[in-house]
Amino acid sequence: MEPSHAASAVLEQFWDLSLPVDPIKIAQKMGISVYYSEGPDELSGFYNDETKEIFIEENETSTRQRFSVAHELGHAVLGHGTRQRAKISPYDPKESAANQFAATLLMPSLAVRTMVEQRNMQFAELCSTFDVSEQAMAIRLMELRLV
Ligand SMILES: [Zn+2]
Repeated sequence: MEPSHAASAVLEQFWDLSLPVDPIKIAQKMGISVYYSEGPDELSGFYNDETKEIFIEENETSTRQRFSVAHELGHAVLGHGTRQRAKISPYDPKESAANQFAATLLMPSLAVRTMVEQRNMQFAELCSTFDVSEQAMAIRLMELRLV
């Protein structure tokens, strides 16, 4: 399944429509536990498919942690098995699939479109409303052809 379609299906089933999207709440509704840990330096997230647990580096910003949870949830939903996420990951189709999943999950297309086209929301406000990095929002706006 396309990562963005998989994320949309998850949103449809498990999102309570509140913003910012809470990826931890969604994971928990799907039976996946999320823990904070002081992991090895090169990891910002880790998903254990056997135990259905996501581990997130506790020393990162909450915005980055949210993206990491959504990214690891992508690996879970897309059936990638147990994986680790390097902070600087080499190009890997499963990594980009998980990133695409995370972007769609945290920035649902209809919600972003509504904020931009109907509420005329500006860039900084979009980043804070969806609680994502400027870089993540900039990429998403380009994908949705809103810039
Ligand atoms: Zn990954």
